[in-house]
Amino acid sequence: MKRARNEVTEPQDAEARRRIRPVICYPVDTLPRPDIAAYRAAREGWKKVSEVVVPPRDARCFQVPAGSFFRIVSIEGPQVGDLNLWSAQDIGERFFSGKTRALHGTHLSTGDQLWSNLPHLRPMATITHDTLDWYGFDEYGGSVHDVIGTRCDPYTHKLLSGHEYHHCCHSNLTRALAQRLGRPKEEVEPAVHDVLNVFMCTGFTRDTGQYFMKASPVRPGDYLEFFAEIDLLGALSACPGGDCSTEHSSDLAACHPLLVEIYRPKAPPLGWTSPPRNGYSRRHED
Ligand SMILES: [Zn+2]
Repeated sequence: MKRARNEVTEPQDAEARRRIRPVICYPVDTLPRPDIAAYRAAREGWKKVSEVVVPPRDARCFQVPAGSFFRIVSIEGPQVGDLNLWSAQDIGERFFSGKTRALHGTHLSTGDQLWSNLPHLRPMATITHDTLDWYGFDEYGGSVHDVIGTRCDPYTHKLLSGHEYHHCCHSNLTRALAQRLGRPKEEVEPAVHDVLNVFMCTGFTRDTGQYFMKASPVRPGDYLEFFAEIDLLGALSACPGGDCSTEHSSDLAACHPLLVEIYRPKAPPLGWTSPPRNGYSRRHED
């Protein structure tokens, strides 16, 4: 863990160096902003076209055409969801949690966008409503919907406990994708990627910088709503950690299903067009 171990003597100007003010790595003033008012107006008269129930400790896939909306809804009880997104035409293009974090911060809410990996780097989805928006940051530095975690996985679990567990989010997402594509699990597993931790409440401890989780504030009826910027294939896992108040990677936590709802608007938002792939020439010249 990153903390002073007192193995080296501080330089005389240590405090002065620490006092230097930080600058934001990626100021987003130049980032084209989505017109959230236009997106919200497009919901008027929309139609729910399908829904998928994600069983506890399992995952399901769903498809959302560009220009439609989807909601991840809490039902029955507090539950965390691990979300993966791919381009419906090419699963090589997928959600890039690291760059999304660099652009929008550690936790996402209304107006933030979910970006795809290089070399595509374009918005895949835009968050249009978040019923947990009121939470903000708590006294521990925790907040909801993070892009700082990865997803619970059986490899880390094996490393730390020596045990095998087959219903971690990574495995759930792998099974769901394999089933959807009709391909073997080993073949699709590398397409599973770092997630958006929907409803999960997380942060980093101030003293050691360790990743922490705490009971999610989500309650049945809460939802996170997205607008699909491109044709999407999604997969959502109802984490075996339940509300992630104690532990994951086991069958001990109380777990609940999650609901995914797909909505088709009467017409796309005014002025909206599906974003093209990133315009960099890819010449990487020396
Ligand atoms: Zn999980």
